[in-house]
Amino acid sequence: MPSHRSRFDSLMVVAKRPPVVMVEGHGSFLKDENGREYLDFVQGWAVNCLGHSPKVIVDAVTAQAARLVNCSPSFYTQPMLDLADMITASSSLGRVFFTNCGAEANEGAIKLARKWGRLHRAGAYEILTMKHAFHGRTLATMSASDKPGWDALFEPKVPGFFKVEMNDLAGVERALGSGTVAVMLELIQGESGVNPASEDFVRGLRVLTRERGALLIVDEVQTGMGRTGKLFACQHYGIDPDVMTLGKGIAGGAPLGALVANEEVCCFEPGDQGGTFNGNALVTAIGAAVFRAVSDPVFLDRVSAIGAYLAAKLEGLSRKNGEREVRGRGLLLALVLSTDRAMEIVQRAFERGLLLNAPRPDVLRFMPALNVTQNEIDAMIEKLDGLLGS
Ligand code: PLP
Repeated sequence: MPSHRSRFDSLMVVAKRPPVVMVEGHGSFLKDENGREYLDFVQGWAVNCLGHSPKVIVDAVTAQAARLVNCSPSFYTQPMLDLADMITASSSLGRVFFTNCGAEANEGAIKLARKWGRLHRAGAYEILTMKHAFHGRTLATMSASDKPGWDALFEPKVPGFFKVEMNDLAGVERALGSGTVAVMLELIQGESGVNPASEDFVRGLRVLTRERGALLIVDEVQTGMGRTGKLFACQHYGIDPDVMTLGKGIAGGAPLGALVANEEVCCFEPGDQGGTFNGNALVTAIGAAVFRAVSDPVFLDRVSAIGAYLAAKLEGLSRKNGEREVRGRGLLLALVLSTDRAMEIVQRAFERGLLLNAPRPDVLRFMPALNVTQNEIDAMIEKLDGLLGS
C-alpha cells in the first residue's frame, strides 16, 4: 500500500463514515476495534430487528451453512419454500420472489407492473409515486423516488414515474390516467422523516386503484417485518395491496428482500426476472428463522407496547426541551426538533456512545431493535436529554 493511502482508501467513497472500525455487536450494543461501546438506536437502518448477532440468526447460519449454502436459483431449496410459505400465509398475497435488497424488490415490482400493464392494460406503464418517497438506489427506483438533490443525478432517469402529493386523494385521482398501471407508496415514508400516510388516503387509494384497474404497490421495506407493531404496516390500514415489497428486517441483518404479489398479478415467465443469489439457501434460512420469531403475536404486541413507551418518553423530552412533534408507529419513530440541528446531535451522540439517525436536518429517527428493553430506552433518553439541553 503506498504510504499516502490510509487504511480506508481501497473503498469507494459512498458515505461519510467516522474513522472507526466496528468489530462486534450484541443486542442493542455495537463495539468498535478500540473496545468503545455504542448504544444502537439505528440498527443498520431498521434492519437488525432482533438486535446484533441474535442467537436465532447464529443458530440458523450454523445449521444451514453446514448443510447447504447455495445451489443456484435453478433449483428449489427447503428454506426458500419455507419462507415463501410463511409470507404468503401471513398476507393476502400468493407468490414471492426473493431479492438481495429492498431496491431490487422494488425494481422487480416495477417490472412486474409494466409487464402486467402490457398484458392486461393495453401497454399502460406509468407509475404514480409520492413526493418525498424513497424506494432505493437502482436507476428505476431512484426515478421512482423523490429525494432532495436526486433530480439531476445520473441523468437521464428511467421514464414513466409521476410524483403526486401523499395524503391528497383528489390529486392522485386527477393524475391517474389510462396510461397509469400502478400507484406505489410507503405507508410511512421513512427517509423523508417518518411521515405516515393517512388512513383515509390509503383506503381511498385502494378503492380508486380498483375502480381504475391500476395496481396498488406498497413498499414495506422499512415498515414491514413487525417494525410498526404489526407484521406488515398495511394491516393497520385494513387494506390488501396487489404488490408488497419487503427488505431490511426480513433476515434480521442478512441481505434479503422480497417481492410479494397477488396471484393474478404474477405474470413473470422464466427469463423475465432473476439473479444469481436470489432465494439463496443460507439467507432464506436466516429469513425463515427471523420470520418465526418476529411473526409471533406476543412479540408483535410487545413491539407496540415498547414503541408506545419510547414515544411517550420522546414526547416528555420534547416538552421539556421545547422541541416539536413525535411521529411514527411502533418502533419507527421520529422527534421533530425546533431547529435544524439533527445532524449535529447525531454527531455529538456518536461521540458519547449513542447511535442515532437524522433523515432530515430537523428530524431525529429512532429504529432500535424490536426487542429493545425499557432500560435501554431509558439510557438512550437520558443521553439524548443531555444533548438536547446543552
Ligand atoms: N424502500 C424503502 C422504503 C427504504 O427505506 C429503503 C432503504 O432505506 C429501500 C426501499 C431500499 O432498500 P435497500 O437499501 O435494501 O436497497
